[in-house]
Parts: sequence; C-alpha cells; structure tokens
Amino acid sequence: MQVPTTVREMIAGLAARTLTSEAILANCYDTIAQRENVVKAFLSLVPREQALAQAREIDRRRAAGEKLPPTAGIPIAIKDNIAVANMRATAGSKMLADYVSPFHATAVEKLLTAGLIVIGKTNTDEYGFGSSTENSAFGHTTNPHDPTRVPGGTSGGSAAAVAAGFVPWALGSDTGGSVRQPASLCGVVGLRPTYGRVSRYGLIAYASSMDTIGPIATTVEDAAMLLNIIEGRDDNDMTSRDFAQTQSPAQPRIAIVSEYLAPPCNVEVAAAVRSAADTARTVGASLTETSLATTQHALATYYIIACVEAASNLGRYDGVRYGHRAKDATSIDDMITRSRSEAFGSEAKRRIMLGTYAASAGYSDQYYRKACEVRRLIKQDFDRAFEHADFLLTPVSPSTAWKIGEKSTDPLAMYLADVLSVPASLAGVPAIVIPWGKDANGLPIGVQLTAQSGNDDALIAFARKLAQ
Ligand code: GLN
Repeated sequence: MQVPTTVREMIAGLAARTLTSEAILANCYDTIAQRENVVKAFLSLVPREQALAQAREIDRRRAAGEKLPPTAGIPIAIKDNIAVANMRATAGSKMLADYVSPFHATAVEKLLTAGLIVIGKTNTDEYGFGSSTENSAFGHTTNPHDPTRVPGGTSGGSAAAVAAGFVPWALGSDTGGSVRQPASLCGVVGLRPTYGRVSRYGLIAYASSMDTIGPIATTVEDAAMLLNIIEGRDDNDMTSRDFAQTQSPAQPRIAIVSEYLAPPCNVEVAAAVRSAADTARTVGASLTETSLATTQHALATYYIIACVEAASNLGRYDGVRYGHRAKDATSIDDMITRSRSEAFGSEAKRRIMLGTYAASAGYSDQYYRKACEVRRLIKQDFDRAFEHADFLLTPVSPSTAWKIGEKSTDPLAMYLADVLSVPASLAGVPAIVIPWGKDANGLPIGVQLTAQSGNDDALIAFARKLAQ
C-alpha cells in the first residue's frame, strides 16, 4: 500500500478504503526506525505495537461502517511542553524529567476527539528558551536536511519530525518564533495563529502574553486543517476566544518590509523573499514596500518582556508539588534553592536572573514598563502597515540552518537569530511560514506572511495560493 505524504491525501485514501491507518502508522514507524537515530526528534515515542493496535481498531470500526471523523487514524507528534495524559511532559528540562501529565491540554483533547493518534513527544529547548533545540536537557535534534546542522527551535523536534517524514502533522508552540523559525530551517510549513485562537491550557508556560500553540505540516492546507481542529474558545484559558471566518481579497495588497531585508538578513534569504513577491504578483496580488521602523527595537523589547514573564512562570518549580526535588535538604529554603539550582539549565537560570532584575523595584520602570510601552508602539506600527497592506511578506529567520554548536556558547548570537520572528509575537498577529527554495548549500529557506489579528483564514488562503 503506497502511503501518501500529505494529510489531505491520507484522508482521501482512508475515505476511499484504498488506505488504512495501520499502513500509515507502519510507514511512520519504518521511517523512524531508519532515521531517528540521527535526527533525534523524539523525547518519548509510543511503542510501535501500541500505536498500530490503535490504528487497527480505527480501521476495524471504519470498515464496520461506523461514522468516524475523516481524520481518525492520522498520526501526530506533540512538542514536549504540551500535556498529553499519562505521557511525560518534560518541556526539555531536567526539572520535569520524570513528570507525567495527569491531564490533556485542550488542544490535545481536541486532536483525540478528531481521532488522531499521538505517537510521541518531541524535543524542545528547555521551556522554549532558545532557537536551535540545543538547550534541551536531553540532547539536541539535528536537521533532516543536514545532520551537522540545527533544526531551529524551539519546536525543532516537531519540525524535524515532519521534515523527516516521521509524521505528517505535529504541534509546536511559538512564543517568539518557535513554530515558524524551525519550519523555515527544516523546509516545512509552520503557523503561528493569532494570540488567543488556540487555548493555552496544558501548554507549559513560558511568556503567557505571547505563548501560542501552532501547527507544523508539509502543506499549507494540512496546517490549516490542524488549526481548525485545535482552535476555539476554552473556559480553561480566559485569553482564548472564537474568531469570525475571514477571506483573502481577490487581489490582495502585499507589502515587503525594508527593515527585514537589510542585514542581518542574508542575501540568499532576501532574494527568496523577493522571488516570492514576484510570484505573489503573478497570482493577482499588488506589491508595495513598507517600513516597520520599530523593528530595530523589537528584539530588546521581546527579551525583557519574555524574561520577566518567564521568571514569574518558573516560580512554580519549587520542588514541593512536582518536578525535581533536591535530596537531603536542611531547610525549606535550602530545598527550594538546591532543587532549582540542580534542575534548571543555564539558559533558564540566565532568563530568571534577567527577568527578575528587569521587573525588580527601582528597575521595572526603566526596563519592564518601558518595554511594555515600546510593545504598544510596535503593535501600532503593524496596525499602520495593515492600513495599506493585507499581508506582509518577509523572512522569518535571517539565515538558513547553522552548524550545531555554532551559536550555542554565545547567548547574544542566539538571541539575534530571533530578530525577524519576534515582532509578530509582540504584536499578537498571525504569521505563516512556507518553504521557498534552497540556498547554495541545499538548505531550505522559508518566507513568512503576516496578517492583521484575527485574519488567520485569509492569511492561510493566500499562503495556499502562493505556495501552489
Ligand atoms: N528564540 C526565542 C526565545 O528564546 C523564541 C522561543 C519560543 O518561541 N519559544 O525566546
């Protein structure tokens, strides 16, 4: 049985009875057996026989004429900072190395209702702190296009799993680019929905005002289908809400953004964006160039706000209720201090210190409050741009995949990799990354389309047209 690569074709095959879920799953596990020892995308993998048994049961019910969701029997991988009941959820941290979630994230609950089969949990930088998946306490993932290079991060495990053909679908999370940037570096599609479109319940918190769960897939259509499954208001996340359906105009106005195409964006990436702009014109879009003058302030603003929120969110890891607890402590203070010192990695510690400093009495006006004000200006800058453009077309990563180890000892170099992905996060707007050719080394390049808040459907519709 020939197994197709896209979810759309899988659904068609299942409906036509020319394909079984068992065949899909067997193919996934065969591919994993061939390549996972090099790619290292998974932190936990459901045993093959267990997943295949689930698939066979779905095949049996479908064959018996039971009315199942069309997606029943499609496999998916989940980033390890999203809770799946009775599976580990480590968030890439030693702190949660033995933590088994007693509940499902809302997004996962919805996947299971749609009949999807979760086959594993994927690698991530600790708590989503990083851009390469090297800051995982459990070792790094490699890029399926070149094992000497990073897959990007922090959803590097999910992006690599899709790029390697292990799964057609994966969930990632994006605070400052963690779905979009690894999608770009691995040559797959990554979607950051409008903030609030997907419930954060069951997502291990990094920076709550920017955290989103987002789909990774091989096509725009598949990513859109996955978003439709997981989106919607949820009583367990008061920032979540429903959005009205939106449509892409027949002749959308596209703007390229000058600041994004200048250094540090490399020339091959900039050329890919210009080539995508030319294609946009051939599919009916009009093209202008615009400026987002606040771009130069976005990185500093992001790292202050993200670290302040992270320092606060990580306060819960005190060794008392769950997570790592130091042995032989002499007092409660000693126990908390030693638990945290032993189990947080160096990037987590760096961010706790930066965030605590930026929010502390005497400094918060200068740093945290100032950053919140600048965030407002960045949002206004986007609003202004969207008065004249339906979609912005930009790069999301200034370079293609870099060598493993190249930036891992230099936190500032690593932060700089996020310069083009964090503005959309601060503004809370949706953005999608689609593959757009390769560089001279044969490494994938991605281009990013961004839309006004809530216009995810319109964004997806145009991205689909462009990708075709
Ligand atoms: N690289 C960014 C950071 O380290 C974004 C990571 C993310 O989106 N989780 O904060």
